[in-house]
Amino acid sequence: MECKEFIESMPSFIDGNMKLFDKNEFIEHMDNCNECKEEFTIRLLSTKGLKSLELSESFDLNKEINNYIKDVKDRVKRRIDIIKILIGFEILFITVCSGLILFFLM
Ligand SMILES: [Zn+2]
Repeated sequence: MECKEFIESMPSFIDGNMKLFDKNEFIEHMDNCNECKEEFTIRLLSTKGLKSLELSESFDLNKEINNYIKDVKDRVKRRIDIIKILIGFEILFITVCSGLILFFLM
């Protein structure tokens, strides 16, 4: 494999679309050619590295935001449920108390 060929086949190697035989040649050339090795490292970093970094960052950010929103929603829902239950108990308590008071007064 020549340097020109190596450079041209870098994207398919990074994407994993390269044939096994070509891969072997590719790696062999990289082992023997420092220039291409450097070129490949830069290429790999700039495509895979940065892409995954960007993706994971935006992923995490979205996840964080979604989790936060979900958490807040859950908390609000739980609070409303507790308030409903408390109001329910209060109404029950008042009803029972007034019932008892009425019962004893009459
Ligand atoms: Zn080369």
